[in-house]
Amino acid sequence: MNYDIIIIGSGPGGYVAAIRASQLGLKVSIVEKAELGGICLNWGCIPTKSLLKSAQVFKYIKNASNYGINVENVDVDFSKIVNRSREIAANMSKGIQYLFKKNKVEVIYGTGKLIDNKTVEITDSENNKSNISANNIILATGARSKELPNLKQDGKKIIGYREALSLAKLPESMIIVGSGAIGIEFAYFYNTLGVKVTLVEFLPFIVPLEDEDVSKQLGRSFKKNKIKVMVKSLVESVDTSGEKCKLVIKTKKGEEIHKSDIVLSAVGITPNIENIGIEELGIETEYGKIKVDKNYQTNVEGVYAIGDIINTPALAHVASAEAINCVEKIAGHKTTDINYKNIPGCIYASPEISSVGLSEKKAKEAGYEINVGKFPYTASGKASSSGDREGFVKLIFDKKTDKLLGAHLIGANVTEMISELVLAGTLDAKANDIIKSVHPHPTMSEAIMEAAAAAYNEVIHI
Ligand SMILES: Cc1cc2nc3c(=O)[nH]c(=O)nc-3n(C[C@H](O)[C@H](O)[C@H](O)COP(=O)(O)OP(=O)(O)OC[C@H]3O[C@@H](n4cnc5c(N)ncnc54)[C@H](O)[C@@H]3O)c2cc1C
Repeated sequence: MNYDIIIIGSGPGGYVAAIRASQLGLKVSIVEKAELGGICLNWGCIPTKSLLKSAQVFKYIKNASNYGINVENVDVDFSKIVNRSREIAANMSKGIQYLFKKNKVEVIYGTGKLIDNKTVEITDSENNKSNISANNIILATGARSKELPNLKQDGKKIIGYREALSLAKLPESMIIVGSGAIGIEFAYFYNTLGVKVTLVEFLPFIVPLEDEDVSKQLGRSFKKNKIKVMVKSLVESVDTSGEKCKLVIKTKKGEEIHKSDIVLSAVGITPNIENIGIEELGIETEYGKIKVDKNYQTNVEGVYAIGDIINTPALAHVASAEAINCVEKIAGHKTTDINYKNIPGCIYASPEISSVGLSEKKAKEAGYEINVGKFPYTASGKASSSGDREGFVKLIFDKKTDKLLGAHLIGANVTEMISELVLAGTLDAKANDIIKSVHPHPTMSEAIMEAAAAAYNEVIHI
């Protein structure tokens, strides 16, 4: 055997698995066909947050007079914004190269395919093939933008997230289809830079995975910022033959025609499970993704799968947590299973959104009797002094045990604040533990303590 572990794919699943394996003394090799760091570092989490930062800075400067600062002639240099984002992504990818070297992870550039449960065939860029072997193989090949038959991406007028991250010039108008995290972040970004944005969502609410109160608050904010939101609407066809894209959209009121320069398809992701040898080996799939047990092992011994190709939340931090868990179990450690009920999710538009656990609706459907506490940012001293009064913290507790069932936050800084509530979940904290933990004043995180107190009709201070 050449290695203890071979990993295919170097995203936050694969690269974290490789480094952890090396730290545990295992001989490890990672196979990557594109950029080190996967979608997250190159085309996902990091470049989007870089663009969003530019939008945030632009918005602050445009509104500087609210803070007593006069700024004239504020302008956007779009190509500089895009270049900054691409440079940050490239530097992060280089950082992975450095980490691999430091941790003695061998990197093999090429496309990996399973030959059997111990052998991976690698095809390099010149189509040369070679085989390597290991006792364990981890598949971490990630996902790509999902294509709908009536929304086929041509990369120019109908685009996916990759093109949306690297457009050559700002369009005048954009229709974004899908209001999950990716659709919302791009809607905020392009709208802030002056693009006329329409957001089309098939379901009755935008951000349909979030608590309904959060969805409504975001809807109000988008309306205020002149983002047109169409819910219960379905894009039936797109004609790209003219100068503008012409969309036929089925709405509650009937069919409507809408036009835009660009259509961004943000309807989800498709796992990269084709041509990696899983059919040949008889590896089982479930709902279009690879089926694994609690050790992330597939039905074929010694072959594991983690990240976006399995049926767990498609998030970078989930992929990385699975990587560590999987490798530690391969190394024979008694590692605790991941608690998938306690996984945070974040959307980095403005206002930001973060959540963990059950929504109010889901908690009721699950039969819980609940105490709900909400604290608005309008009552937060820090939010007021920052000029970020939009948002709230909503906490849902189990009436029987006083334990936290769900947390739903919208407003400035909430993507940083959610970790406190994840820790509360891990420690099985009760409402009183949150109420009695003294939070620094003034901070937005006080809203967490206040929301917990509100759930039990207590008031700490205003
Ligand atoms: C626009 C956007 C924004 C996002 N923002 C966030 C965010 O803010 N927070 C968050 O948690 N998540 C975010 N995500 C999701 C996150 O990027 C993914 O959940 C994460 O990257 C999944 O990690 P992974 O390791 O499973 O796969 P990936 O990151 O997709 O990496 C897979 C790697 O495998 C390689 N590969 C595939 N097939 C082969 C093969 N046969 N041989 C060799 N190499 C192969 C690919 O080239 C790729 O490098 C975002 C996604 C997108 C698209």
